Amino acid sequence: MNTYRIGIDLGGTKIESILLSPDLRELCRERIPTPAGNHYDLIVKAVYAQIRAMAEKIPGNGDFTVGIGIPGAVQKETGLVHNANTTCLIGKPFRTDLETLCQKRVIMENDANCFTLTEALQGAGKDYGMVFGVIMGTGCGGGLCINKKIWGGANGIAGEWGHFSVDPGGRTCYCGNRGCVETKISGTGVEASYYEIVGRHIKMKDLVQGYRQGDELCKTVFLRFLEDFGRALGGLISVLDPDAVVIGGGLSHIDEIYTLGVQQVRKYAFHKNIQTPILKNRLGDSSGVVGAALLNG
Ligand SMILES: [Zn+2]
Repeated sequence: MNTYRIGIDLGGTKIESILLSPDLRELCRERIPTPAGNHYDLIVKAVYAQIRAMAEKIPGNGDFTVGIGIPGAVQKETGLVHNANTTCLIGKPFRTDLETLCQKRVIMENDANCFTLTEALQGAGKDYGMVFGVIMGTGCGGGLCINKKIWGGANGIAGEWGHFSVDPGGRTCYCGNRGCVETKISGTGVEASYYEIVGRHIKMKDLVQGYRQGDELCKTVFLRFLEDFGRALGGLISVLDPDAVVIGGGLSHIDEIYTLGVQQVRKYAFHKNIQTPILKNRLGDSSGVVGAALLNG
């Protein structure tokens, strides 16, 4: 097969694009800001422009595939986007619109599935059969790979652990439920918890710093975050019992997740001696865009 691969990772703040050669070498990569203002048409335009920019770099008009990771899911029957935290995509035929512009098949997947696929194929999960990928960043997503293939589920929502409702009295989530895991352990969720308790805004990295320096309020919020993480992931492991969990997203750089956080996971899992490896990703921010490029088989 002499087919090149274009991958696009559409995020809330940036659109990253990659071009891989037929033997999967990276030939080109670009990152641009996501158009501000949550306008669907502008996002379609920007993503299409990135596809074209990558396609123009393919030597000799070679054939190529297009895979796109989005912060949401695509309904199997209708092709419409649902549950996206880039909310202007919700209910829109994003894939079909891009296919019309490109005159080509476009594969579209949830970005957490793209992350999990890359880590299962090439990263921290490559020695394991069933890999659950966790993204903890602005939001909180997840994906499932079984034997190096994405398992989408009957409704295309497999892995969406961020939207278990764990607190009926909790904050309202964009998905319509209250007290979702995402509202507790995403970066924005933890920052909101601090605001509720302290009445001041703080950035996640400053909160972690404060905890490490012994600030009592930071400690309260941070330890609660780790306990919520343990409750959510411990429950998930009890249901799914994956061979490994790989953690990605901005919060994956917090070392305490792999020590104190894992202790909490063990506390909340169905039995205390589970040894499920809970691993930091190996491919970092690249996982999403590479996974998008690898979507076409
Ligand atoms: Zn939710």
